[in-house]
Amino acid sequence: MSENTYAFSARSYDFQSCAKAKNWIGGEWRDAQSGTTMPVLNPRYGKPMGDVVVSDAKDIEAAVAAAKAALPGWKTTPFKERTQVLFRLKHLMEENLEELSWLASHENGKTYGEAKASVLKGIECLEMGTSLQNMVAGGQMEVSRGVHCQVTYEPVGICAGVTPFNFPVMVPLWMLPQALVAGNTFILKPSEQVPYGSLRLAELAKEAGLPAGVLNVINGTKAAVEGLADHPEIGAVAFVGSTKVAKIVYQRGAAVGKRMLCLGGAKNHLVVVPDANIDLTASNIAASFTGCAGQRCMAAAVMLAVGDTQKIIDRVVDMVGKVRLGVDMGPVITKEAHARITGFIDQAEKMGAKILVDGRNAKVAGADGHWIGPTVIDQVTEDMPVACDEVFGPVLAIRRVATLDEAIAIENRCPYGNAASIYTSSGHVARYAIERFEAGMCAINIGVPVPREPFSFGGWNDSKFGHGDITGFDGYRFWTRPRKVTSKWEVQADTNWMS
Ligand code: NAD
Repeated sequence: MSENTYAFSARSYDFQSCAKAKNWIGGEWRDAQSGTTMPVLNPRYGKPMGDVVVSDAKDIEAAVAAAKAALPGWKTTPFKERTQVLFRLKHLMEENLEELSWLASHENGKTYGEAKASVLKGIECLEMGTSLQNMVAGGQMEVSRGVHCQVTYEPVGICAGVTPFNFPVMVPLWMLPQALVAGNTFILKPSEQVPYGSLRLAELAKEAGLPAGVLNVINGTKAAVEGLADHPEIGAVAFVGSTKVAKIVYQRGAAVGKRMLCLGGAKNHLVVVPDANIDLTASNIAASFTGCAGQRCMAAAVMLAVGDTQKIIDRVVDMVGKVRLGVDMGPVITKEAHARITGFIDQAEKMGAKILVDGRNAKVAGADGHWIGPTVIDQVTEDMPVACDEVFGPVLAIRRVATLDEAIAIENRCPYGNAASIYTSSGHVARYAIERFEAGMCAINIGVPVPREPFSFGGWNDSKFGHGDITGFDGYRFWTRPRKVTSKWEVQADTNWMS
């Protein structure tokens, strides 16, 4: 492994170190101009697997210069040729699937299986990008005699994306396929907690034939993001992360006239009524809140148990009791996250909730990382922070309610609006709930209702600032500007005032 490649040959959970995570600008590795770095921790072991550079506005300036230099050539490359680069990248990702999965597993803490599933979902997003060539031919019509109107979708220009820690390879691929295939050049700022997945993607994109400067990766934290939101030559920024930061970044970019789409946090409610299928419901809920150690914006957070659903609760408790920490479920990202999550549990307990399954003292032999086991808290009430705030860990809060309307009212009062599910055997009940949920991604008998491509991904309310969704065709709309061309070539006898 040379100094500047991040190729990762791990074939197990054994601790692995990585090269320094630098910036990738104009097809070259560069240190941050400030010379500052910070450690990247392997959450399983709680120790550094490498260092990442911490960039500021000066590095953004360099990335913008590279993206600007590459823009004329890339945006005039025919759409179908741009698409071929994505095809090659897809094949390279498939060839390197194991390596990418281990990389995501090591830097994020996911189990290998979870990491692989997330890389495969990223590949599906790339496939969406490759299909756009057959969907976006635009449209034209003779709007008056001899007068034609045509629409084409033009690139915005230099674009940027900011991504969170929880899906190191997948979330960048919510943005890159549509943005790149549309002819934009791009600056990606991954989470400083998981920089390697994005850097490996950039290397593979180069191997796939993406010209230098079309995709740049800048590492860092707040200053780098502010540099992107402020830069006058960046036309559009997408962000995925917590609601608090999403709102700040949205407002900062919008204030200087940028196109912004900022996805935030979540607090997903799962409503369970007594006629729900016990096995289907319990296995779904258990998988939803324990998968990826609960660090998914689509994870179950609150179970709204309507009437007598005790058998389902008992089955959930039984199932999560069998989850093998370190094998079926990974650690949480940092010791600060661990403290935040256990803090929510401590507080709920103090306020009178009943802890049915307690993951606070969980440990994994030989791996001194940030472990917390699945935790189920019953008799949660609205005044408890665990009822309303985003926990982002493997914790299920159960609230007991008497009626479906009461459950829907609780879901509606939550300021977030990412996902909501109803578990029932009745089509009527399902429809009644779905039509009333205040959430962008709803489900019937599904605990992680991620819309697969080409259906677009995005929540409502405090889970998203900006218009449209981030994936699917909405993503293409976000990274393009419609140009309308109206034309006439001959004098017409019956022209009207409009043409
Ligand atoms: P985060 O908000 O802390 O960080 C996200 C990005 O913002 C990172 O790249 C980080 O470097 C940057 N950042 C952090 N603080 C900043 C600041 N003050 N100013 C500017 N930039 C800043 O989120 P995270 O902890 O990496 O990820 C977890 C969060 O992301 C959860 O809230 C989760 O629900 C959310 N998330 C949402 C979705 C979605 O689709 N809505 C998807 C994945 C994750």
